[in-house]
Amino acid sequence: MTARRPLIAGNWKMYKTGEEAVDFVNTLKGTVADVSDVDIMIAPPFTALTHLSPITNNPNIGLGAQNIYWEQKGAYTGEISPAMLKSAGCQYVIIGHSERRQYFEETDQEINKKIDAAANAGLIPVFCIGETESQRDANETFSILDKQIKNGLEGLLSEKLKSLVVAYEPVWAIGTGKTATKEQAQEVHEFVRNWFAKQFGPDFAQGLRILYGGSVKPSNVNDLMAMNDIDGALVGGASLDPDSFSQLVHYKH
Ligand code: PEP
Repeated sequence: MTARRPLIAGNWKMYKTGEEAVDFVNTLKGTVADVSDVDIMIAPPFTALTHLSPITNNPNIGLGAQNIYWEQKGAYTGEISPAMLKSAGCQYVIIGHSERRQYFEETDQEINKKIDAAANAGLIPVFCIGETESQRDANETFSILDKQIKNGLEGLLSEKLKSLVVAYEPVWAIGTGKTATKEQAQEVHEFVRNWFAKQFGPDFAQGLRILYGGSVKPSNVNDLMAMNDIDGALVGGASLDPDSFSQLVHYKH
């Protein structure tokens, strides 16, 4: 089996000013200097990106954005282009986070254009998918995920998606303190990997990093990361404190 490099990613949402972000990274760098076998990504608010780009030069700490717009330039008030993210030092971009789907009515079709634009710019798309609690209760988890992946990647060829990262984030587990059990998460990750194997072939699927997100914290990260198809975590709340984020990066491996 192809070895997949684990990725522990922090999504800071609308928390931290530039100065607070710099303090965080300066502290974190001291505590993760020993880690060379795990990739780390931090996605601060847009306004902190240029503060962090000069100090995230540790090759394991990558910088990510939380959103992107698909046009290159133009009269799109409030939007940020792929080239702007690149020039601010980003390597990654989170796309289709459930908060954007829920509160900003982002559609699968928009997510599709964002993934395309990110990949064209050489950014690593972190493509978020996940079912709501009522969809899980109605046994619709797999059909919802199938639709989100199919629509989100519509028309995109495997060549373009070589760096793609998928984040499975059950909506009911985000910011709620409820975590999917390791068995529930593994079952979905296996489904996602099989989806990619069918669509793009076994080599692509074996190389694909699939992160779990939803109330990941130091107390549950080891159990989740021990599962075959879980290659990392996308973390909200527990990524805001350098000590707990460092504990996540130091999960048992
Ligand atoms: C997230 O924002 O992607 C997330 C998973 O949040 P939390 O870890 O707080 O549930």
